[in-house]
Amino acid sequence: MKILVINTGSSSIKYELFDMDHRQILASGMAEKIGEDKSILTHTKILASGESVTKIEEGVIADHHQGLNRIVDLLIDKEHGVIQDKSEISAVGHRVVHGGEDFHATTVIDEKVIAAIKENIPLAPLHNPANLAGIEVATSIFPDAPQVAVFDTAFHQTIPMRAFLYAIPFELYQKDRVRRYGFHGTSHAYVAERAADYLGQPLSELNLITIHLGNGASMAAVEKGKCIDTSMGMTPLAGLVMGTRSGDLDPAIPFFLADYLRMSLKDIDTLLNKDSGLKGMCGANDMREVIEKKNAGDEQAKIALEVYTYRIKKYIGAYFAALENLDGIVFTAGIGENSAEIRELCCRGLNKLGIEIDLERNSKPGKEIREISSPGSEVKILVIPTNEELKIAQETRKVIEAES
Ligand code: ADP
Repeated sequence: MKILVINTGSSSIKYELFDMDHRQILASGMAEKIGEDKSILTHTKILASGESVTKIEEGVIADHHQGLNRIVDLLIDKEHGVIQDKSEISAVGHRVVHGGEDFHATTVIDEKVIAAIKENIPLAPLHNPANLAGIEVATSIFPDAPQVAVFDTAFHQTIPMRAFLYAIPFELYQKDRVRRYGFHGTSHAYVAERAADYLGQPLSELNLITIHLGNGASMAAVEKGKCIDTSMGMTPLAGLVMGTRSGDLDPAIPFFLADYLRMSLKDIDTLLNKDSGLKGMCGANDMREVIEKKNAGDEQAKIALEVYTYRIKKYIGAYFAALENLDGIVFTAGIGENSAEIRELCCRGLNKLGIEIDLERNSKPGKEIREISSPGSEVKILVIPTNEELKIAQETRKVIEAES
């Protein structure tokens, strides 16, 4: 069974084609700058040997329809392709950012599902319309293949009201759906499952804290396989310090910015989403660059790293208390998988909580799942490469097999 996974943004389509029976990725790529003067399509064919061949095309891709058509052309191309015909694709799995309270799980897309994703547009005004465009285009190009939606928010729908409700008038939740939703759910769910596999215990018997540190960053408290709290909120702006996003801050700061600095709502939105976080504190949003700057003696970068890791450490403490019992901590995504320094700073001084990192194990780079806690640590600390696309493909397969 071959499953195409697509993640559609406002001007991009990322894709991966999986052969589920042989547990292989056949091809992956991305069409970028769709609708702009110079669009770029990067397509990588993965050979059976594991080697890969990449083709980069530059030209104009006017819209998502043209973009996905070109991707399909490449997938069936004699030289760069990996299948003979598009009919070999059994299903298309879509990443959909906001499922609101309507979706607790992966769902086969029909008219009702499309209507519900549309209803959630106010909650994700940038993402959901782009995801809908991807669904529409894929449905027209693959009319016979089931289209499946995998929601970023679904894994967090088990969070109890005490953790998702903001302390503001209750009717804002009831009428206007103002509450914590959480994001990166596909990644948190995937690494929690992998952690259980690695530890050789059922997920239903484990309490985990999962820490996703990419350009966006979030944490989740996962109790016996069910998420009970997460750091992002109604939007992905809340919680941890991120590349360009502030994460948690005093909710009265925007009033100050508006009243005293005369900033407009739009300017404040840009400030907190695009010019804050690591970038706001030290001028660089890429963690590798921040670490380089710090190593070169840059004081701003040093303090930015302290703020970044202190926030994570505080959340570890908070989620330990929320879970009452902790078996494992999982670091994942670009920074979590690659930066021994960040992992060490987040766990430093937590020995009394049974969290003991092993400096030597932690410092060894790797691409595989690995344990970095000391042998005596009560809480296992793991590094687990995330794979949201694979998880979307697995979920897609599961729901279409259950329906047939
Ligand atoms: P996205 O959220 O866009 O998927 P990634 O998960 O790829 O992002 O993470 C990107 C982040 O990972 C960047 O800040 C990048 O600097 C960081 N990163 C990648 N490799 C390293 C490394 N070796 N050390 C520190 N940070 C790294």
